[in-house]
Amino acid sequence: MNDCIFCKIINGDIPSYTVYEDDVVKAFLDISQVTPGHTLMVPKKHVQDIFAYDDELAQAVFARLPKVARAIKASNPNIKGMNILNNNGKVAYQSVFHSHIHLIPRYSADDGFG
Ligand code: 5GP
Ligand code: ZN
Repeated sequence: MNDCIFCKIINGDIPSYTVYEDDVVKAFLDISQVTPGHTLMVPKKHVQDIFAYDDELAQAVFARLPKVARAIKASNPNIKGMNILNNNGKVAYQSVFHSHIHLIPRYSADDGFG
């Protein structure tokens, strides 16, 4: 997948700010931050969307979500919650066709990101 932007990030050909990485996933800051700390978690294996996961990959990737969520939350005491979402297909507003999970920290209502 030479022209996949997230494969390039995984390979280090495009710079990113890494939040978490192991042999299965990489999590890095979204270039366009919905709230501070907005992170994308991606499988290192190129899969287009949720429909392309086999059971083994799904278990490996989604089992890592709580760990990544906790790492983000631990990075800032003002994080009070988190939206986790995953867009699949153009009609669902997927714009990068390497599957990714958004982790969007939520802050208290009075800091502008509540
Ligand atoms: P989608 O709309 O497919 O669910 O989300 C794709 C996300 O990828 C968007 O939030 C967008 O800001 C992010 N994105 C696109 N290109 C890059 C990039 O080169 N680097 C990083 N870190 N994020 C990117
Ligand atoms: Zn890819």
